[in-house]
Amino acid sequence: MNENTHDVVIVGGGAAGLSAGLVLARARRRIAILDGGAPRNAPAAHMHGFLSRDGMPPAALLEAGRAELARYGVEPIAARVDDITREDGPDLAFTVRLTGGATLRTRRVLVATGLRDDLPELPGLRERWGKDVLHCPYCHGYEVRDRPIGVLATGPMAVHQTLLIRQWSPDVTLFSHDQEISPDDRERLAAHGITLAEGQVKRIVADEDGLQGVEMADGSVVERGALLVQSTMIPNDALLTGLGCAREDGLVPTDGMGRTAVPGVSAAGNVVNAHAQVIMAAAEGSAAAMALNADLVEEDVQRAVDRDRVTARRAAGFDAAVEALITETVLGDRRHGL
Ligand SMILES: Cc1cc2nc3c(=O)[nH]c(=O)nc-3n(C[C@H](O)[C@H](O)[C@H](O)COP(=O)(O)OP(=O)(O)OC[C@H]3O[C@@H](n4cnc5c(N)ncnc54)[C@H](O)[C@@H]3O)c2cc1C
Repeated sequence: MNENTHDVVIVGGGAAGLSAGLVLARARRRIAILDGGAPRNAPAAHMHGFLSRDGMPPAALLEAGRAELARYGVEPIAARVDDITREDGPDLAFTVRLTGGATLRTRRVLVATGLRDDLPELPGLRERWGKDVLHCPYCHGYEVRDRPIGVLATGPMAVHQTLLIRQWSPDVTLFSHDQEISPDDRERLAAHGITLAEGQVKRIVADEDGLQGVEMADGSVVERGALLVQSTMIPNDALLTGLGCAREDGLVPTDGMGRTAVPGVSAAGNVVNAHAQVIMAAAEGSAAAMALNADLVEEDVQRAVDRDRVTARRAAGFDAAVEALITETVLGDRRHGL
């Protein structure tokens, strides 16, 4: 490997990527972190459920992480990665290509590129995403506790989500929108004190004070202070699939330490685990970094063993040649009666 080869290039500088970077920098690895600067939770003003950081603005957490990395001489680079290719040759190495054409060479890659939330196309919804249109009761349910909460049915998990959010408020309405609600589920909802608003939703009603309600196709408005909406979560995993990682059930599988099925390629956070909250994404990054470091140590040890064996064989070969020369000289002397 030449001097410019990184040990690990990390793509994505969110909780997963920065956390991996911290572990690898402290393991004295030569790393680069390349980040597109669009973390998933950017629309939210506060981040919850991260022990010791509860309520911190999402950007402040990343800022604190970058400041910690700076202590070890690592500064994430604002750049997007377009593709990663495995190099030909005996060494396990990759070329990482950035938008604009620059390339980096690395022994291992860690993809921590997060996911994209695809939202239902309803007027007014996108503008309130992360504010009072919420994706997860554990992240933001407490902040809207006891308020009138709606749930927009967008898929088969709608009833489950509705039953869950009832933990945070006694006033919950499920908007069936374009989903069928079975008789069993209707019974369960009613038993749990939840109202069902049948029919298509037309738009989200909001003003400068925030969400006001949900307008139905017939023009009636159901007043709500918050709305839970499950997005379609699309992993940003093109770099992984481009390297040959196959998806299973919509996600690239990894083992417990972030390793994919492709040697030298690891992944952490939302890109491979759609349900990872920030603290989980950070933990996954940390675990993946430790596995990568151990893997590099193993490779270095194997190389050193190979090098020593070659040196020993060469030395043995040299000794044999010298011995043959001496023998030949002695025999020659005898032949000549010396
Ligand atoms: C509105 C909202 C609010 C949330 N609130 C909370 C909360 O309160 N608490 C909580 O625990 N969780 C919350 N979450 C979940 C949280 O966003 C995720 O757990 C977390 O962002 C996952 O971290 P990550 O590092 O995997 O991905 P991200 O934080 O999304 O980081 C991925 C990074 O990779 C970069 N990237 C992507 N592709 C490339 C590329 N090709 N090249 C270079 N860089 C690239 C992106 O720009 C981004 O900076 C919330 C989610 C949403 C949508």
